[in-house]
Amino acid sequence: MPSLGHVAVGLAAGRLHAEDRPRRLAATALFTALSTFPDLDVLARRLGAGRGSPWLHRGALHSVAIAAAAGLLAALLAGGLGRSRLRTALTGAAVAASHGLLDTLTGGGAGVMLLWPLDTVRRLAPWTLLPAAPMGLRFLSVSGLEIMATEAVLFLPLLVYALWPSGAPRPGPSVACQGPR
Ligand SMILES: [Zn+2]
Repeated sequence: MPSLGHVAVGLAAGRLHAEDRPRRLAATALFTALSTFPDLDVLARRLGAGRGSPWLHRGALHSVAIAAAAGLLAALLAGGLGRSRLRTALTGAAVAASHGLLDTLTGGGAGVMLLWPLDTVRRLAPWTLLPAAPMGLRFLSVSGLEIMATEAVLFLPLLVYALWPSGAPRPGPSVACQGPR
């Protein structure tokens, strides 16, 4: 669970989606919720999900199908937030689907049921590019803070883009067009 990475995706999507400040705040809140909600499945065992249940951690809630449904539902409830509802739904679905895909890149955890309900295979990418963040209060340990620092470095471009002040020049290359003097 690259938790800071998921938040960074939601923040960047909100920045990209809405141009004016009030809508940007709403879009950022919406997309950050969509980029992080799959990890609510850590509560499934307490709610009675038994061994083998698709609702356990990194199961159905991490699937592309649930991501698509969540994006659609979010657009229906929140509206377009300055864009068309279709664009909001597609962005929301992509943001939610990014969670499961990023989780497949982490080491040390269970695979992800990306294709639920078509199958219940837990998949991991062949590459481990991200650290797996510890769950719950273990996140506040030394190793948890080290992982958060690593994520901050890996997702720095998204965080800078999302949090760059509105009135300041955007980071990144700029093309200056100067006329003849
Ligand atoms: Zn996750």
